Amino acid sequence: MYSDEVPELPEVETIARGLDKRVAGDIIESVWIGSKKQVLKSSAAAIASTIEGKRILRVHRAGKHIVFDLEATGEQVSGKKRKGGSRVESRRAASLQTAQWIVHLGMTGRMVVCEAAEEVVKHTHLIAKLASGRELRFVDPRMFGKLSVHAGGFDPGGIEPLEATEEQFVALFKGRKTPIKSALLNQKLLRGVGNIYADESLFRAGIRPRRRASKLTLAQLKKLYGAVQEVLREAIALGGSSVSDYVDADGEEGFFQLQHRVYGREAEACLVCGTAIQRVVLAGRSSHFCAKCQK
Ligand SMILES: [Zn+2]
Repeated sequence: MYSDEVPELPEVETIARGLDKRVAGDIIESVWIGSKKQVLKSSAAAIASTIEGKRILRVHRAGKHIVFDLEATGEQVSGKKRKGGSRVESRRAASLQTAQWIVHLGMTGRMVVCEAAEEVVKHTHLIAKLASGRELRFVDPRMFGKLSVHAGGFDPGGIEPLEATEEQFVALFKGRKTPIKSALLNQKLLRGVGNIYADESLFRAGIRPRRRASKLTLAQLKKLYGAVQEVLREAIALGGSSVSDYVDADGEEGFFQLQHRVYGREAEACLVCGTAIQRVVLAGRSSHFCAKCQK
């Protein structure tokens, strides 16, 4: 329907939790990386050398990124562990043993956990063989997804909307002359909020997407803070509202869908007042709002 339907924070959270449940504790024995460079933010050699032989400690979300926390397996680090080393040294040794594998799904990226015997579908760009006999595969037909590795402490920038305090949230928009919708989508301010949940949050807060962020009152920003939290938490509770071409960690298609009140409902009646929902294009993206409920 719209080209901007990509996994947002709740979907990525759902996928990361699903992956954590399935692969945490498993070891990446070896990795195959395809020839398509578009999906590689780190080089194939760097990805292979960083993730091969590592145990997956946990899988979690940072913004819209899936983060695999990795640690070297016992055999590899045994030589590095020294008895009687100072605390600083042992801490440094610990940090050398950890690494992170970062997956950004882009628009159509999927992480699939399956048996090794399963057919490798078209557009598979990476296959990690796991010690359990299963495989973790990254599939992405449109290749807007990105794979990278980090030494640890990956920071996608911005603040986590669900961890931000009301004061932190309000401070983000002070003096910003951009439309509030654009500010909500700015990943350097808030990480993980995309088009759908920005529209839904603005509707619940009664704020039009084009309003300048700097013109909003403190009361409006506080209301928006509450709305963002509410919308994201509801969507996570429902398992992410899927409107795009991706599947969860089991390869299962589809999530429960949060009922969108404005997003994708152009010309339909507002669920609150019956006014036709309008759609405007703001910075190249569709914004949906009710002209009566939102000021
Ligand atoms: Zn309305």
